[in-house]
Parts: sequence; C-alpha cells; structure tokens
Amino acid sequence: GKYSWVDKDTCIACGACGATAPDVYDYDDEGLAEVIYDGDANRGIMAIPDDMYDDLQDACDGCPTDSIKIADEPFAQSE
Ligand code: SF4
Repeated sequence: GKYSWVDKDTCIACGACGATAPDVYDYDDEGLAEVIYDGDANRGIMAIPDDMYDDLQDACDGCPTDSIKIADEPFAQSE
C-alpha cells in the first residue's frame, strides 16, 4: 500500500484533490484537505490499495502547493 497525508499548513483549500481522489481526500470545516481513507484522519498510517495509486498520483501532481505527501511506508508524525 501507499500512505498519504496533507500538510494543512500549506494547503490553500483549492478543492482539487478531493475532486481527483474523493475516496482519499476530503475537507475539514475550513476547507483544508485531509486524508479520510479507512479512517486515517490525515495521519498517513492507513494503507491505500494499489488500484487507487493513479488517483493518488494525479491528486499529488495536481496540488498547486505540493501539500499532498505520499510514501511507501506509514508516516510517523509528531503531534
Ligand atoms: Fe489543498 Fe493541495 Fe488539496 Fe488544493 S489540491 S485542497 S492545495 S491539498
């Protein structure tokens, strides 16, 4: 699987990622994107299956602020 999260400090709430990959990205009350896949809650720890890689990559490529982070391993974020 792949792992993803959104850096909300740089997200400008443009709405592109949720349109591209609606099963992975949704928006919080401020319109900032976050990963919702499988209850991830933007932690970047839930594995996203192979058949969604194209959507992930398209969303990442389409983000105007490079706020979408994707990796092959779970992210270990400090709160
Ligand atoms: Fe935020 Fe990037 Fe998604 Fe736009 S595409 S809402 S800037 S994460």
